Amino acid sequence: MPPSPVAAAALSDGTARRDPNLVLAHAAMASMQRQGLSPTPANYLVWFGYHDGAEPGLREAIDAGLAGGGRITQSLMDELRARFFDAGREAVSLHEMSRRLEEAVGEAVGLMDGAREAASRYGGSLRAASDGLTDEPEALGAVLQRLLADTREITRRSDAAARRLTETALRTQELRAELAEARRLATTDPLTGLANRRGLEEAMRSGLENAATAPLTLLLLDVDHFKAVNDAHGHPAGDHLLRLLAETLREALETLPHGGEALPARFGGEEFCVLLRGAGLKEATGAAEAIRLRIAGASLLLRPAGPRLGVTVSLGIAMALSGDGPAQLIERADAALYEAKRSGRNRVCTDPSLPRAGSIWG
Ligand code: GH3
Ligand code: MG
Ligand code: MG
Repeated sequence: MPPSPVAAAALSDGTARRDPNLVLAHAAMASMQRQGLSPTPANYLVWFGYHDGAEPGLREAIDAGLAGGGRITQSLMDELRARFFDAGREAVSLHEMSRRLEEAVGEAVGLMDGAREAASRYGGSLRAASDGLTDEPEALGAVLQRLLADTREITRRSDAAARRLTETALRTQELRAELAEARRLATTDPLTGLANRRGLEEAMRSGLENAATAPLTLLLLDVDHFKAVNDAHGHPAGDHLLRLLAETLREALETLPHGGEALPARFGGEEFCVLLRGAGLKEATGAAEAIRLRIAGASLLLRPAGPRLGVTVSLGIAMALSGDGPAQLIERADAALYEAKRSGRNRVCTDPSLPRAGSIWG
């Protein structure tokens, strides 16, 4: 996303300072002031993100709050901060990064305060100088000397503040990129590159919030007799097969007309899943069947120049019902998967507890 209109205007203004980070830092401070918000590190972080446009969702959320002359409350700030900048609460390293980010931003706020104080002191010395001029015309030389010294001092201070503010803004951006990368790693499975269980559950939570308007379906997939593959070919070959399966799953979802948004994930071990948003049960069943056939029809190369192996998978499907949390949806997809295994493997089963169509959200 491009910078906010305010920041973009300042950036294109030939008279403005050219350092974009400084422009963003100033825009963030000005926004906090305009909204009557305390210039805390957390508030600064949110507004900096708003102006630089790195978080499109953040821009949309604030613009919605501002629409029709609305004000941004502190509680909305707290919510945005938690949503866009708080990493998973359990991950200590992410916390550490958030802390460092706040520290850097806190320093920027301190610098701005310092510059403001110096400016108001300068205003005071100008006033004193003009008083001196009317009372004692003969002291003009001394007054000018003092003014000159104060001018030098304020220029030195504001240049230093501007430089350090730029450095801090840069550091803030770096830390934010690190934070985004750490968050990506925390939700990615290292073996297959798919989302991991945590990434899946995050997506499920947000999908469940909107399930009344966009149906949410979970496909749970388990490799049939996978233990036998490990036993016959070794664990590394098993790992290789899991990577190939992940690729096959990804490809299948790219080419399948499932009518919604699909998130493939590694659920754990030799179990994968697909979270389908906006696809009905019919489309989900079609997608599951197509995935099953694609995997059953592929013969996967176990090693370069090694043997080829055919594997099959079983799938369970469940659709989100009103009041479901991630655990309930997973439980029902797992029950359907169990049924697929029990009834002979290499097949798709659907959660039998599905209510009649149309009564899901009644
Ligand atoms: P079923 O058809 O009933 O699912 O049979 P299965 O052999 O696939 O199921 P079981 O649960 O008995 O065994 C799963 C195996 O998956 C056992 C475990 O060694 C293997 N496995 C789990 N995670 C990994 C992994 O990351 N890499 C490899 N190579 N094997 C794994
Ligand atoms: Mg299993
Ligand atoms: Mg299995």
